[in-house]
Amino acid sequence: MGRGIILLAILQTLLVASTCNNLTTLNSTPTVQLKHYSDVLANRSSNPNLVYHIVPHTHDDAGWLKTFDEYYYGLKSDNFNIECVKCILNETYSILSSGKHRVFSYVEMSFFEKWYSNLTHERQQGVKDFVKNKQLFFPNAGWVMNDEACAYYEDIIEQFTLGHRFVYQEFNFTPSVGWSVDPFGHSSTHAHLLAQMGMNLAFFDRIHYSDQRKRRAENNTEFYWMPYEDFPEWGLVGRNNLLFYGGLSAEVGYQFKTISWASFDKKTNSPAQALYWLNDQADYYATDQVFFHIGSDFTFSKKGTELYEDIEKFVVEVNAVVENSTGVAILSAPDVYAEQWYLDYARYPNLRLTIKKDDFFPYADAQDGANYWTGYFSSRPTLKRKISESSWFLQTARKMAFGGGLVQALGQKAATLKAFWELSDRAINKLERALAIAQHHDAVTGTAKKHVNLDYIKMLNDGQKEAWEIMKLAGDSALASRLKPSAVSELKKLVSNAPSKNSEANRTLLKYFTCKDNTSSIECPFLTDTLSEISNTSLLLQIYNPGPNKYAAHRVKVPHSDIEGKFFFSDDFQLIFTRLRSSSRVIFRFCSCFPS
Ligand SMILES: [Zn+2]
Repeated sequence: MGRGIILLAILQTLLVASTCNNLTTLNSTPTVQLKHYSDVLANRSSNPNLVYHIVPHTHDDAGWLKTFDEYYYGLKSDNFNIECVKCILNETYSILSSGKHRVFSYVEMSFFEKWYSNLTHERQQGVKDFVKNKQLFFPNAGWVMNDEACAYYEDIIEQFTLGHRFVYQEFNFTPSVGWSVDPFGHSSTHAHLLAQMGMNLAFFDRIHYSDQRKRRAENNTEFYWMPYEDFPEWGLVGRNNLLFYGGLSAEVGYQFKTISWASFDKKTNSPAQALYWLNDQADYYATDQVFFHIGSDFTFSKKGTELYEDIEKFVVEVNAVVENSTGVAILSAPDVYAEQWYLDYARYPNLRLTIKKDDFFPYADAQDGANYWTGYFSSRPTLKRKISESSWFLQTARKMAFGGGLVQALGQKAATLKAFWELSDRAINKLERALAIAQHHDAVTGTAKKHVNLDYIKMLNDGQKEAWEIMKLAGDSALASRLKPSAVSELKKLVSNAPSKNSEANRTLLKYFTCKDNTSSIECPFLTDTLSEISNTSLLLQIYNPGPNKYAAHRVKVPHSDIEGKFFFSDDFQLIFTRLRSSSRVIFRFCSCFPS
């Protein structure tokens, strides 16, 4: 409360020197602000009529120097380096609660969902109101901000699906812009995926320094990104930020209080100089919308409210020194910027953009000479392999768990089915989340610290472990309902002809086992328990190929030379029947095999 009163006093003082337009700005939502400014600008004769979008945000790495949880809870922080996502989000709640003109953008849904799910119902309703009032925006809204060089496209879609589903189900929010400010280079495939998700505009930062210089020289920082000529509708506008990510806000002539990594003499803070910088940047823009983002890694972790007040003060000061009414500054968000950008685009029929088709790789910065960021393409191969394997595992788990065979096998009792869906959803969701976090631009890339990498691997292993329980359940059950009739009759014949005196005992050995292909015998009870107890065993080996190639070759090692084999093919499973001579017993085995 005290802070709010002080802020109001500051604003009142500043607003006296400002125009009445600013008063309207700081008391209304972004939508109302924009409506107001569009009316103001429409009545002006000056050219240009710029809108300076001042965008407060934070970028929170899902693991890098610290693990995901260490960042979330703010562990291992000291007085100088506080990185605490939970603190940021609590502070954001407080900031947005104290003024409807306040706007904030949050990107990484893995953190946001963790925070939101632990709020009281009342506070969750408060967050919903922020979104409804257009105070809180979710640019990108992936589970993480994924890498674009090492991440597989299917995994990128997965991680976006988790985030987009969350914001839609909880807030009825549909993301409209891509926000990829920290990954080390950018791919056209990623742009293509963003376009297909319905994004209109992609913000990004890290491109080769010489490309960036050239684009600035040619006023080409905004362009149409169209990876496939055959599908021009699946393209979008690309926007290379001018203030490079992590850059010093002091460069623009204005140092914000709590962005501590910059050294800047506060006495030189000059709104006029900042405005000069903004107008200078405007020359590189195709439209009248000028973008200025304020935020970096874990910004707002400490003294978040003070920083926000500083940003508000900046908006007021800029508006107070605008000369010849060249523009107005507003608190804004990337989504708002994109909306206004397209309105401008429609207003200026002669505006033409160049077309970009390929990638922005390799990335190189120009600090102390050219530094090429290419080592991460292949570093930490074990983690990269683990992520790929987890991806196959997830897709296979889904196919097996949600296949019709299991539902049939479990029967149609609602309680049973409900229990199954809840169980499988929970089990698979853990792997989905672990895999999504692993797409983060410091995870799959291998740029995180060793203990953070181990944490990613643990998450993936834990996810696989739970998913596997469902897969076993599904595999054992599905086998009975999916066997080819001819294979079943052959097995029945073998059982009935078995030389054992106790045929009932034989039948008790008709068991289902689901094991991973090429797994250690320790993990497969069939191999360790059953086969060690009996000899002359017959078995039916059913191999499940979850891959898209129906006729993929698979090698089966048979540890016996005296063997006969029969093959049964069905639509979705290939069956291989092997029978050892003078066998007396039959054992089923369902084998889930993974393509490699
Ligand atoms: Zn980052």
